[in-house]
Amino acid sequence: MNPKWNGQFSCFDLVAKTDECPRSVVRVGDIEIGGNDFVVMAGPCAVESESQLLQTAVAVVDAGARILRGGAYKPRSSPYSFQGLGVEGLKILRKAREETGLAIVTEVMSEEDVEVIAEHADIMQVGTRSMENYALLEALGRCGRPVLLKRGMTATLEELLRSAQVLAMAGNPQIILCERGIRTFETATRNTLDIAAVPVLKTVSHLPVVVDPSHAAGVRSLVPTLSRAAVVVGADGLLVEVHPCPEQALSDGDQSLSFGEFRCMMADLQPYLDLQHPEQKEQHQFCPQLLAVGGAD
Ligand code: PEP
Ligand code: MN
Repeated sequence: MNPKWNGQFSCFDLVAKTDECPRSVVRVGDIEIGGNDFVVMAGPCAVESESQLLQTAVAVVDAGARILRGGAYKPRSSPYSFQGLGVEGLKILRKAREETGLAIVTEVMSEEDVEVIAEHADIMQVGTRSMENYALLEALGRCGRPVLLKRGMTATLEELLRSAQVLAMAGNPQIILCERGIRTFETATRNTLDIAAVPVLKTVSHLPVVVDPSHAAGVRSLVPTLSRAAVVVGADGLLVEVHPCPEQALSDGDQSLSFGEFRCMMADLQPYLDLQHPEQKEQHQFCPQLLAVGGAD
């Protein structure tokens, strides 16, 4: 290991990689994140209606996703943007789980909402704007659900692992780290996907690491390429935005994939997954018949 990394990260003893604990697996039902599987979480940026979410849930599970994403409480850059359906959105997420068997990941923005969201969701998402909200992290320490901790858009990896340590110290060791792009001087993409973050985090921490190519890219055309990169550098999974009609999405439509684009992307990832995990070749057959379908809806 690069000695610099070791010195920098070993103080976060609950999340740092050690010989005794080289990797940890977060279990959600029969899904293992950080084990040998590559776990895809997909769905709309925001839950907008029952039909929007249920249609999306069916499409993503058919294409091989294991977890459904969808924000019921939305942190928006503008106060005039759609703020999410709140508890109504949580109920819709729950219904989608009942109908498809998909586990649910959804964002929690405030410690006051932890209890109600933990009743409905399987994984609690901490967004980029909340990574250093320590009151929220403390409350999540006691929530009994795994946490998907997104990297702050201006946070270093050291700061990300510090927040993970806060969560673990608060009593919750079930943490999934998420690289979702950081702010740099580059403006061609919404954020800059720090692809090196994946191997660095996998070297210094035992926690699973997933990549969110959608918020990194800001445009849907880049999402399949960034997803491929995530597989190749050893990520444990993806968090991807998918919408029945991206042009009409109430949030993040530009970076959301249509159902057809998502199916194609999953098929495109297959050979890269086979290379990464030859022993898993059979299990990674997401949706072989779709290789022939191609095209976008
Ligand atoms: C999201 O996942 O929809 C989201 C708001 O992500 P981030 O916190 O990374 O901006
Ligand atoms: Mn979004």
